[in-house]
Amino acid sequence: MKKIVVLTGAGISAESGLRTFRDSDGLWEGYDVQEVATPQAWQRNPQLVQDFYNMRRKDAMNAKPNAAHYALAALEEQYEVTIITQNIDDLHERAGSTNVMHLHGVITRAQSSLNAALTYPMEGWEIKMGEVCELGSQLRAHVVWFGEDVPMIEPSARICQQADIFILVGSSLAVYPAAGLINYVPNQVPKYIVDPNIPDINRLNSMIKIEEKATVGVPELVKRLMGS
Ligand code: NAD
Repeated sequence: MKKIVVLTGAGISAESGLRTFRDSDGLWEGYDVQEVATPQAWQRNPQLVQDFYNMRRKDAMNAKPNAAHYALAALEEQYEVTIITQNIDDLHERAGSTNVMHLHGVITRAQSSLNAALTYPMEGWEIKMGEVCELGSQLRAHVVWFGEDVPMIEPSARICQQADIFILVGSSLAVYPAAGLINYVPNQVPKYIVDPNIPDINRLNSMIKIEEKATVGVPELVKRLMGS
């Protein structure tokens, strides 16, 4: 089976009602990321950060996968598919994709604030202050904050090197190191980008551009790749 690697960003979940980041002037649901998505923010105001991610978890749990998530899951009928997502929602898994790598963590798990490798599944939508990990430190959301290590980046880069076909959906490619992953895809590999507002970046010149919203562009592309 040919290998398809898909890199997704916030844009693929926009039509599921989860807002993107750059489309709202660099604010995330009205918050400056420096206030909610950095280790310094957690030091300064852990309750605010906890509340912010509790709300993101609630939103993600209430959201439903859309036609783009489902179309990517259907690709597995004919291809070996790896989805590398920058998203912290779990909509790819809920649409049926079986091989999803979360570069920036996944909101449905809790994480030790002492050791990022210790993560736990969650029952409800809320992590309360006072809930602790096995080391006795406060639990936080299992997400990668700006300035933190991205442990999944190396395995993701290796997967990109092995792609036969590469697809990018709904990412401004402004957040590193995730944005650097496309440089690992070999030159001769066909590369597609689906985004209604394709970022103006030189590196994207060699890509086949599908200037559509994800729910339109992704099912169309999947149809093409499945030969029907
Ligand atoms: P971004 O917000 O920087 O860029 C969004 C991109 O999606 C833009 O290029 C935009 O044109 C495109 N887009 C908007 N609507 C679309 C649609 N309907 N279909 C297809 N594309 C659409 O997103 P990013 O590059 O993923 O970087 C944001 C960071 O913030 C990520 O690291 C991510 O972890 C985090 N984030 C995650 C979520 C989520 O989990 N759903 C939501 C917001 C932010």
